Order: sequence, then C-alpha cells, then structure tokens
Amino acid sequence: MNRQKSFCNDNPKLYLISTPIGNMQDITYRAVETLKTVDVCFAEDTRVTQVLFNYYQIKTKLECYQEFNKEQEALRIIDYLDKGMNVGLVSDAGNPIISDPGFHVASLAVEKGYSVIPIPGASASLTALIASTLPATNFTFYGFLDAKSSKRKKELEELKNHKETLIFYEAPHRIEAMLKDLLEIFGNREICLARELTKKFEEFLRGTVEEVLEVVDELKGEMVVVVKGYQETNSEYLELDPIKQIDDLIMAGMLKNDAIKTVAKRTGIDKQALYKEYCNKKN
Ligand code: SAM
Repeated sequence: MNRQKSFCNDNPKLYLISTPIGNMQDITYRAVETLKTVDVCFAEDTRVTQVLFNYYQIKTKLECYQEFNKEQEALRIIDYLDKGMNVGLVSDAGNPIISDPGFHVASLAVEKGYSVIPIPGASASLTALIASTLPATNFTFYGFLDAKSSKRKKELEELKNHKETLIFYEAPHRIEAMLKDLLEIFGNREICLARELTKKFEEFLRGTVEEVLEVVDELKGEMVVVVKGYQETNSEYLELDPIKQIDDLIMAGMLKNDAIKTVAKRTGIDKQALYKEYCNKKN
C-alpha cells in the first residue's frame, strides 16, 4: 500500500494541474497560483500552454512532456523532483491523464515516494454530461473508441447492454463513422453530442443517433458524445399490436412520425421497418 499524506511534509511534489477546455477563465485560483509557484512546468505542447501562461502572466519555465517517449520523459521529471524541485504537469486542455499524457510519470513519482497532487478543474467529459440531460447518477467515461471501424464495433458490442450513461470522446473527422457504428450496434439510442464546450460556438444536440446523423455534416470542432444506457423494452407494450399502438397515439393527437418513433422505442422494433409495415398496412 502507498499512503500519501499530501501536505504533511516538505518533500518535492508533482502537481497534476487542470487547465481550461476552451474558455480561458475556466481555471481555478489554485491552479494559476500553482502554475506560478512550481519550479518547472511540463506541458504536452508548450505552444498551447504558452497562450495560457501569457493570459495569466505566468513566467514559470516550460518544458515539453512527450507521450511517445514517456519512459525517458518521466525520468527527466523525476530528476527535477530528486533535486528538490516542485514540478507541474499540464496537458493541452482539461485534466491531465484523462485521455491525455501523465499516467506513466504520476505512477513513477508515487513509486519513488513523491506526493502526486491533483489540482482539479474542467474536463470535457463531466462538462458534457451535466448539460446532456441524460441520467447522470451512474455513468461510465469511456474516452476514445478505436479509430478502426472493425475494432470500434467490437468495443461497442461489449458496451451495448451497459445500463449506465456512456461518455465518449471523438475526433470531428471520425464522428460520422462513429455515429453510424453506434446506430448499427446500439440501435437508435438517445444521445447528446456536445461540441465546442465553453467556447463561442458551443452547441448541444440532444436527440436520437439518427437525428444527429442527419446534421452531422455541419458539425465541426471538439466533440463529446454522451449516450443513454441500455433500457430493457417495456414488456407491457410487447404484447400489444404495434400498428394498433400507433393508431391509438395518432387518435390521441400525435403526428404519424412521432407515433411510429414512440412505438419503435417502446417495443425495440426498428423504426424504419415499423414505418414500412405501418404504411403497407394503411395503403
Ligand atoms: N484531458 C481532456 C479532458 O479532461 O477533457 C481531454 C483531452 S482529449 C485528448 C481531447 C478530446 O476531449 C477531444 O477530442 C474531445 O473529444 C474532448 N474535448 C476537449 N475539449 C473539448 C471541448 N471544448 N468541447 C468538446 N469536447 C472537448
């Protein structure tokens, strides 16, 4: 067991410092103060972090931490700690380590007996979740799915009966392919695509996968996809004739398309198939 009493000694520390995910003001006083007072700060891309440093007039020495060479890079950080210096670690945005570099060096620092201190702040995952209006009591953060469709589908197969809300990160050039795979494996689930969080063009698309796919060509920037967990279909509706259910909903004042969508959701029947069947029976 490793037991860390974070503030009970004067040993050098590794600070994992959260930075904004867009809006420069989404950073804590403590994070700015820590960035100013550490002896050196390691960044994923020093050019990105320099913009933040300029904004807050932070003069701390910046060095680059390259994930592709993480073993060597971690030793450079440990070297500073061995010399009695406090070190900060930031990624380009949000929490370090969350789909970002830092895991290796944090583990190594703990192994070497140093305290690893988190400085909390924004993460795209929770920022998207809280405004998604999807259930947020229990959820799973998954991060990026594989870039290859075949592997991505396998991952989705494993997640498809997961009852909790799921949070995915996705690159804009892969979003269409990812949503198509999601539709194929999960069906037409309720999702919230949150893009450009905290920035000028922040947008939330709350609807079904099919509805979001209809406008996917227009979507640019950074994106998080929050997906409603698997819900067992309501057995009470499975015993009723779906065509009669649609008619009843229309009689009650619902538009045809909305009625078909509702019955598809209740019964788990594919919406397109139900639409065809309904139209065939009515013609
Ligand atoms: N460490 C970051 C965090 O704590 O959220 C995540 C870094 S990961 C390399 C980058 C991904 O996070 C993007 O591809 C996108 O999915 C998501 N992301 C980051 N900033 C975002 C923003 N402002 N709006 C929407 N998604 C964002």
